[in-house]
Amino acid sequence: MIAEELLRFISGCVSPFHVIQSVTELLNAHGFHPLSEADPWTLTPGESYYVTRNGTSVIAFRMPAGPWRGFLMSASHSDSPVFRLKENPETEKLGAYVCANVEKYGGMLLAPWFDRPLSVAGRVMVRSGSGAKAALVNIDRDLMVIPSLAIHANRTANDGASYNPQTDMQPLMGSELAKGKLRALIAETLKVRPEDILSSDLYLYLRQPGSVLGLDGEYVCAPRLDDLVCAYTTLRGLLASGNRTMLPVCCILDNEEVGSTTRQGADSSFLHDVLARVAADVHPDADALSRALSASFMVSADNAHAIHPNHPEKYDPDNACRMNGGIVIKFAANQKYATDAYSAAVFRTVCERAGVPCQTFANRADTPGGSTLGNISAGHVSVPTVDVGLPQLAMHSCWETAGVRDAEHMVKAMTAYFCSDYRGDGSSFALN
Ligand code: ZN
Repeated sequence: MIAEELLRFISGCVSPFHVIQSVTELLNAHGFHPLSEADPWTLTPGESYYVTRNGTSVIAFRMPAGPWRGFLMSASHSDSPVFRLKENPETEKLGAYVCANVEKYGGMLLAPWFDRPLSVAGRVMVRSGSGAKAALVNIDRDLMVIPSLAIHANRTANDGASYNPQTDMQPLMGSELAKGKLRALIAETLKVRPEDILSSDLYLYLRQPGSVLGLDGEYVCAPRLDDLVCAYTTLRGLLASGNRTMLPVCCILDNEEVGSTTRQGADSSFLHDVLARVAADVHPDADALSRALSASFMVSADNAHAIHPNHPEKYDPDNACRMNGGIVIKFAANQKYATDAYSAAVFRTVCERAGVPCQTFANRADTPGGSTLGNISAGHVSVPTVDVGLPQLAMHSCWETAGVRDAEHMVKAMTAYFCSDYRGDGSSFALN
């Protein structure tokens, strides 16, 4: 069942570094070859490859056995809104407590983080020879909690609360005797000396495992569904794609939640750099990439807001979507969603062929809404782009809810997409 597979995948993805580790393990198991950006590439027709950057972004692709015209791409993101540990990660309070010292990463819903078992995972730079090397760490036990203030001390807590991340959200991790022990625990987990830890990128994560719920088991609930459900289902589509006249490319990119402007984000050279080298390997003439891009297409896959049962007034009544109703095509006049009539028509046709239902989403005209990867990646790799996603509730909570059947729909649709014989130029297309 896709829901169980998805939950297993998400449970290992406790930080963006662990997302890419899980993805590359899957790619390795399916015969993909790792490439380094630092080395020359020799690509063999019929073989499959992947490239990572920063250990938090990956681009995987399959070389067709014969001639190909362009790229059929997908983009999703590896990061989620979360608390990040500061470089000095401990604060002593009142001579009685040691708290973790954290700051927000991305547009978080803060309230769901209270009173939950939390732990720490990410990347640590460990001294090695004359330099240092990265090591992934996951403290695999319940380690800390962000305690609520009791109702007795805050009688208006249920009347609409606001939280200060510096004062209200610092997790408790021990008594005064715990001072200095977090760093020691990380070193012990990595089997290194604490003084050999030079720096770190560490994040909190919710320890509660995901679950399938609902009277008919129709919902999947888990941390980081935005956007790991799209990362996983687009990857499954790539892994299932067979004979091709187009070159399928699955991108899972970091830092979407903070604007994508990093060296590994959608607003970097990463995708363009990879595509240029793939195009040059096959057609060494100067305009090879431009010709390939003119025949290419991008599916930007990031979750959408399902209509909320208790707050329907927050949605456009005619462009709202519901969980288990199919893949959502997202539209916005300001082009924060890159969908236009052409790209929507392509994706609807893919879904029709795959027997998968589609829905639409547009924000209320008085609501600015969110943004995603599509219009950012299109600034670097300018191809027709559709923004799609799976409908979900509680976006940017640490515990989100989506539809089980929609994950199945996405795998089917992305498999059909990556296998399709797309012939299009931005004004007309055919899918064979
Ligand atoms: Zn997202």
